[in-house]
Amino acid sequence: MIRKKRHWQLDKLFYPADRPMAALPCWEHHVHSEYSDGTSPVAEIIARALAQGIERLILTEHTEPELVAGPGWFVAYVRTVRELRAAVRDELTVLIGLEVPILDMSGHLLINDAMLAQAEFILGAVHAYPGHGWNLDTIEPARAIDLEYRALLALTRHPDVDAIAHPGGVCTKYVTPFPMELFDEVVRQAAANGKAIELNPAYHEPLLPYLEICRKHGALISPGSNAHRPEEMGLAWEELKKLQVGRRGDG
Ligand SMILES: [Zn+2]
Ligand SMILES: [Zn+2]
Repeated sequence: MIRKKRHWQLDKLFYPADRPMAALPCWEHHVHSEYSDGTSPVAEIIARALAQGIERLILTEHTEPELVAGPGWFVAYVRTVRELRAAVRDELTVLIGLEVPILDMSGHLLINDAMLAQAEFILGAVHAYPGHGWNLDTIEPARAIDLEYRALLALTRHPDVDAIAHPGGVCTKYVTPFPMELFDEVVRQAAANGKAIELNPAYHEPLLPYLEICRKHGALISPGSNAHRPEEMGLAWEELKKLQVGRRGDG
């Protein structure tokens, strides 16, 4: 497998959880365009990001074949972003990212060598549970927690993963609340391995306890809104800005 040299230093890409959230730059690290399951062309997303004052936009297209825009989508995606971002580079940084699901507990990701070589940001995700699949209607809560937990831990150890998408989010949203003590352990291991934790108000509600755990472990955070429409961008940044770590009850 080709190991990519990242264009970006991780400490520049993410925000330490123990810094004041009020100073968090306007970053949006989780957006889908029409190259995967978002509604809009990249040009529209970039225009909206500029209008909104976003300073860094990371597109994070899915790699699941059923979610992408047909054969050749990745080549077209890379070409389009490279063309469009050149014109706005003084105002807005745009990175070519992928949201990549983990396939099994030994840490295989759904990604090919071309993607690995060209993606500038890899957001590792637990989507369909390894060994179980997408159907969560009948899964036992304890099994969902166990599968999500073990898959998240595998992501914390993966050399190609930069940040972990919505930790605990699938379990919480579709089955049962993911236990905070397990979120805590995922964050601890992610921080030890230099992986950032995505904080995402669509999954982490309320957000403050999750931020407190990130802070306790000295983790890096990645603000991601999982925007599928341009107007959904910036939500994570807005919500995080309101939080004051270490001072529960504010805001
Ligand atoms: Zn996801
Ligand atoms: Zn997503």
